[in-house]
Amino acid sequence: MKTKIDDLIGRYVENYPREKGTMTRWGRPLTAYAAAGDELFAKMKEIIDPSHGMPSDFLPGAQTVITYFLPFDGAVVKSNIEGRECSRAWAVAYHETNALIEDLNRHLKEALEELGHRGAAIPPTHNFDRDKLISGWSHRHAAFIAGLGKFGLNNMLITAKGCAGRVGSLVTDLALEPTSRSEGEYCLHKRGRPCGKCVRRCVNGALSIDSFDRHKCYAMCLANDERFPDIPVTDVCGKCLVAVPCAMTCPAEP
Ligand code: SF4
Ligand code: SF4
Repeated sequence: MKTKIDDLIGRYVENYPREKGTMTRWGRPLTAYAAAGDELFAKMKEIIDPSHGMPSDFLPGAQTVITYFLPFDGAVVKSNIEGRECSRAWAVAYHETNALIEDLNRHLKEALEELGHRGAAIPPTHNFDRDKLISGWSHRHAAFIAGLGKFGLNNMLITAKGCAGRVGSLVTDLALEPTSRSEGEYCLHKRGRPCGKCVRRCVNGALSIDSFDRHKCYAMCLANDERFPDIPVTDVCGKCLVAVPCAMTCPAEP
């Protein structure tokens, strides 16, 4: 069944640019599965915020959280390397990937229902609190729990295909074998090797070796949002996840 879901996600993403006429292209997605009862979900209330949701909040009787990573095409990644402000292609990719996540989750939900199961589609940005700058559901943390990747110093989830892309998730009552989490870190700095390139690339003094100022980061994202009034909601930056060793590949052996 997991192979069937993997293929369904892969085919949907492959056909999406042609069907929707998007500018953005994506690489083959990665998927990973978490048990809805994994104790780490409860810990997210301590780590992120007491308001962080549990899988059963979205779907009573939840069994599995399906998570996936949608890697950006190399051209999108390259476009965002130069300059202080984010590139237009990066802003478009953010907007189009939000739409893709919503459409893909709807498609997955319908496919699960055809199999006699239920699915709860979680929007790309769920209950974002603009004061605390946190979400009621972190797709990245759900994907971490599922074993899709490990967090880097840049706070992004580093997967086998890097961190330049987006993570989505969906809750279902279909019981599936959870993916195992690997032991080691993927971030070079966290592995005790020299790097910190993401810190040097930060354009607004938000990221340092031992801290992250989410307000400074979001200020930069809002400045980018103002640059593209013709694209709905482009509060992104992403300078610390391009031209770094973990952009499009996992820099350390899992
Ligand atoms: S750039 Fe280097 S230090 Fe920063 S997250 Fe990637 S691997 Fe880690
Ligand atoms: S997204 Fe931009 S402002 Fe935020 S930490 Fe990365 S480079 Fe710095």
